[in-house]
Amino acid sequence: MKIINVHAHLWDDQSVEERVEHYSCEGMVRICLIGREKVRIAQERYPDLVIGLGMVQPGSDGPEIIDKYHDWGLPGAKFITPSAPYDCDAYLPFYEKLANYGMVATFHTGYLGGSGRDTSTLWMHPMTLDRIARNFTELRIVGYHLGNPWYTDACSLALCYDNIWWELSGGTVRATPLSYLKTVFSFRTLDQYGPGELSHKLFDESVNHALFEKFCFGTDNPAPVYMIDFMRDLMEALEVPERTRELVWWRNAARIFGIEDEIVALPG
Ligand SMILES: [Zn+2]
Repeated sequence: MKIINVHAHLWDDQSVEERVEHYSCEGMVRICLIGREKVRIAQERYPDLVIGLGMVQPGSDGPEIIDKYHDWGLPGAKFITPSAPYDCDAYLPFYEKLANYGMVATFHTGYLGGSGRDTSTLWMHPMTLDRIARNFTELRIVGYHLGNPWYTDACSLALCYDNIWWELSGGTVRATPLSYLKTVFSFRTLDQYGPGELSHKLFDESVNHALFEKFCFGTDNPAPVYMIDFMRDLMEALEVPERTRELVWWRNAARIFGIEDEIVALPG
């Protein structure tokens, strides 16, 4: 089984080699490492394994940081700890630049622990991605942590927009009981029943596998084993079709980063 990790970190005080080893495991064909200068080094050193995502803290960083990351050859940027909501007017130039460069935008969404920095979980609410996805339809967007705890909001965006995908890492989704997740993942819209379908669907409690077609695999800081076990057990329990599981493990990410042919050609 091939796997692409869309959410991994390389912090400034960490060694490139140690982090690559930390995130490597059987089947791991690409690792999206998030950071600043070090990520550029990591991508140059491991061009067949590392996808570098430049860290952006909008407000502290200005939109010109996207030009720098583009010059470095990074295919995307990750947003976190904004000084205002992600979708405020002042931040639109970040997304415009990414869209023009054909780069990917990833976002921390939902709860963020810690203090000492003037930001807010609400400014990273999953619905702040709505305006961005709507205005930059060519921009590919990956939200992290499924909008924790606003899972349903995240799911509704996944169904509404072709250019939004989600990743489920973080302690909270994994700590959520299956019965609750079954409810979350039964979210759907009448559109999914086909045109002209107006009657309500009170008794359809089945899992909406179309949601999983918009999910990607990611780990955040922990080693991959934890999320691999969780995603495998979750998809098994919810009877996600094999073809859809492949989208989650690697194919969605490969398409988002435009490397599907490369990954298909790899053995395994
Ligand atoms: Zn993270």
